[in-house]
Amino acid sequence: MSDTQALVDSLLENVRDAIIIADAGGRVVRLGKAFGVITGFSDETADIAAMADLGEHFMREALSPQSDGRWHGIAKCGDGVERAFEVAVTAINGASPFPSLYLGMVRPAADLSPMSMEMGQFGYDPLTGLPNRDLFVDRVGQTVLQANRKGGSVALMMMGLDRFTLVNDALGHAAGDRLLVEIARRLRVCVRETDSAVRLEGDKFALVLAIADVDDSVIVAEKVLSAVKEPFALDGQEVVVTFSIGISVLPVDADSGAQMIKHAENALHHAKISGRNQYQFFSKDMNRKARSRLELEARMRRALAGDEFVVFYQPKVSADRDTIVGAEALIRWMDPERGMVSPGEFIPVAEESGQIEAIGSWVLWKSCQQNKLWQDAGLNPIKVSVNVSARQFHSRALLDTVVEVLDRTGLDPKWLELEITESMLMNDVDTAVRKMTALRDLGIGLSIDDFGTGYSSLSYLGRFPITTLKIDRAFIADVDSNPKTAEIARAIIGLSRGLNLEVVAEGAEVKEHISFLRDNGCDTVQGFYYSRPVAAAEFEKLMRQRVMAHC
Ligand code: C2E
Ligand code: MG
Ligand code: MG
Repeated sequence: MSDTQALVDSLLENVRDAIIIADAGGRVVRLGKAFGVITGFSDETADIAAMADLGEHFMREALSPQSDGRWHGIAKCGDGVERAFEVAVTAINGASPFPSLYLGMVRPAADLSPMSMEMGQFGYDPLTGLPNRDLFVDRVGQTVLQANRKGGSVALMMMGLDRFTLVNDALGHAAGDRLLVEIARRLRVCVRETDSAVRLEGDKFALVLAIADVDDSVIVAEKVLSAVKEPFALDGQEVVVTFSIGISVLPVDADSGAQMIKHAENALHHAKISGRNQYQFFSKDMNRKARSRLELEARMRRALAGDEFVVFYQPKVSADRDTIVGAEALIRWMDPERGMVSPGEFIPVAEESGQIEAIGSWVLWKSCQQNKLWQDAGLNPIKVSVNVSARQFHSRALLDTVVEVLDRTGLDPKWLELEITESMLMNDVDTAVRKMTALRDLGIGLSIDDFGTGYSSLSYLGRFPITTLKIDRAFIADVDSNPKTAEIARAIIGLSRGLNLEVVAEGAEVKEHISFLRDNGCDTVQGFYYSRPVAAAEFEKLMRQRVMAHC
C-alpha cells in the first residue's frame, strides 16, 4: 500500500469530521467512519447501501449548479431522525495515485426545522440531534407551566452513563460518539412524542415527562434501564453499559422547574453512589412506592406460575324469576402472605407492566373451561362474561386467544361474553368496530361494562356491534333516593331496549333496587342482594338450588 493510500485510510478511519470520497460522476467510493456516526447509522443496523445513498444525496445537492459546492439542509438519517447538515465539496483533479475525485466534508449543522428556526437555530446537540442544555431549562419550564395549568404531574429524570470514560479510553472517541448516538436513539423510543429527551453534556441525558400518575415515572425509568442494558456493537465488540437515573416529581417533591432540576441532580448523585444501574427518586416516599410496585410485579409473576389466582363467579339473576341466567368471572388473588388481594389493586399494575395479557388469557381459559364443566354436569347452561382490559382489547392476540380457548374447551361461543368499557373504544372508533365485529363473528357476546361513567356517547352506541349494556353500580346505588339518577337509569334501560340490547344492572344491593329495576324493565340483575362473587364450587351450589334466595 502506498503511503498516500495509508494516509487516506487513516484519515477516513480517525477524523471526527465525516468524509465522503466520490468519483467524477458523484458516486460514493469511500465513506469515513465518522459519516455513519453523525448520520445515525449505528454499527448494529448499518445499512451500507442506504448510507452510500445518503452520501450520494449530499454530493448531488452540493454539486448541483446552484449550490456551488456547498449545501446546507435537512436529511433523514439512518435512525429515521431528520437532522441538519452542512456539506462542502472540493474537486481533486487527478492527483496521483487517484483519478479525478470529489472530497465531501459533512458536518452537523444548526437545525433548520421550523420549530428550531423559531428558537433561533440553536438548542440542538449536533451529535445526537437531541435538544441540548439550552433548550432543556426551557422544556422543563414549559412542561411545569402546563402541568400547573392543567393539574398534571411532571417527572424529570437526569441520567448519567456508568463508566463512560472506560468506553472512550478503550475504544476511542469515535466509538464513544457512536455509543451516545445509539443511546439517544434508544431513549427516544422510551418516551412519547410529546415528552423531551435531552442531551445535557458528555454522557449526561435527561427526560422531561408530563405524567398522569407518578407510577408512570417508574414505568419509564424501568424501560430506560432495560433499553440501555441491551448490548451495543461497537467496532465489532459487544459493549454493555448501564445508566444511573435520578428522578424528581412535581408536585410531590418540587414546585418549580429549578427545584426539579436540583432535586433530580441530587437523586442522580445518590443513584451513582448507591451502586449504579438503578434509579432513585428524590423523595424517600417515592422510592418506597417504586420498590413496593416492583415487588408487586414480581409477586404477580410468581402468583401466575404458582396457582395463586382463582376465578370467582357472581350470579346474574332474572329478577322476575329469581333464577341464575349468567355469571361474571372476577379474578381473585390468594396471596399466601397478604391474603386475598382485590383486582382493583393489582389489575391496573398488571395492565401497565404488560402482565395483564397472560393473566387475562388465563381468566378466559379458566372461565370457559369451568362453564363447559358445568354444562357437562347437566346444569342449566348459562352465559359467563369475562372482563377484558384495555391492553388486552388492543392486543392483536385477543382474537386468536378467544378462538383457541373456545376450540380447546369445546364451549359453544354463545355462552361466552366479553365485557369491555367505553373508554377502550373511543380513541379509534373504526378500529374498535372492526375488532368487535371480528369477535362477534365468532358468535360470542359483547357487553359494555360500567355504562354511564365514561363517555356515554349515545351517538356511537348504535355503531358498536354489542349485545349487552351494563349499567354502572353508581347509578343503581342511588335510584331509590335520587330522582335524577333514577331518571338516568330509566333512560339507559329505555335506550338499551330501543337498540335491542340486553341490559344488566350491576351493584343491586337492596330490595328497593330490585323493585325499581323490575318496574322499569331491567330484568337481569347482578349484585350483593343476590350474591357476592363466590368460588366455583359455591356457585355450583347456587345453580343447583335453582331459585336464588337473597342474602
Ligand atoms: P367490574 O367488571 O365492574 O366488576 C364488578 C365489580 O363490582 C366487582 O368487583 C364486584 O365484586 C363488584 N360488585 C358486584 N356487586 C356489587 C354490589 O352489589 N355492591 C358493590 N359495592 N359492589 C359490587 P371486583 O371483583 O372487586 O372487581 C373490580 C374490577 O376489577 C372489575 O370491575 C373489573 O374491572 C376488574 N376485574 C376483575 N376481574 C378481572 C379480570 O379477570 N380481568 C380484568 N381485566 N379485570 C378484572
Ligand atoms: Mg365487569
Ligand atoms: Mg362493572
